Amino acid sequence: MEAGGHACTGALAGALTSSAIGGLTGAELGPAGTAVGALLGAGAALLPDLDADGATAYRSGGTVTRLVGEGFQALARTAYRGTRLPHDPPGDGEHRGLVHTPVFAVGLGLLVGLCALITPLLTAAVMVLVLAPGISALSRSGPRWVRQQLHTHRDLPAMFVAILIAASLWMSGAMVDLGWYAGASIAVGMVVHSAGDSATRSGIPWCWPFRRACEKCAIKGQCAGSRWRRSHILPEALRWRVGSASGKRIERGIEMVCLLAVTWLLLPDIAAMMHLA
Ligand SMILES: [Zn+2]
Ligand SMILES: [Zn+2]
Repeated sequence: MEAGGHACTGALAGALTSSAIGGLTGAELGPAGTAVGALLGAGAALLPDLDADGATAYRSGGTVTRLVGEGFQALARTAYRGTRLPHDPPGDGEHRGLVHTPVFAVGLGLLVGLCALITPLLTAAVMVLVLAPGISALSRSGPRWVRQQLHTHRDLPAMFVAILIAASLWMSGAMVDLGWYAGASIAVGMVVHSAGDSATRSGIPWCWPFRRACEKCAIKGQCAGSRWRRSHILPEALRWRVGSASGKRIERGIEMVCLLAVTWLLLPDIAAMMHLA
């Protein structure tokens, strides 16, 4: 799945789960909660592709996100080298490897939550780095006037809006309680990304680090096992190839449905804000 599809599915997941995650973590976001949840979900759903040079999240924050991406890629190669089995796919295990696994998503979420215990400044920095690519990818998928009027599809204006949102959360005093909220949202968004990739023909290694037998050679009873083989969430006939014309059409449709659903979920908040004004 390409960045637009990931951002829109992540936004929907974020909008749907923000109040649930808020309830669990004690975060209080006020009437903008669904919107912040949607933007955070969109950005989180772009994070796994930090393992691919030049992806939206990789470029969005300049040197900072490039360094994070290179760090993630080094981790992915190390994990692949250390745990690969004879029947694992060939390659260095960098892209759609460790960084696309649910284990990594949950681990990174936990780390973000723990960082907040040191200082809410770390939560704010993570928020900015996650929000910025989400805002730019959503702006690219959204209506044209967003690009024409707000220019938030570009990296710099998107970063500016991300900083504005983080600053307003900081001023309202909400940032102090957002550590676990941000961590849980990141984990959810990353798993939604992996689900998106495994709806396509690419697939991701869902089961790592568990050892599995291949379907074909397990029948003969002589499988040396694999941990990194990719699996899918759709039957073979329904999977599309990323970047193909039909794949782009399917992803565009998914983007539209998700954006409409997010707008629908935002309506009560907008009504509440109008009431306050
Ligand atoms: Zn991916
Ligand atoms: Zn095998």
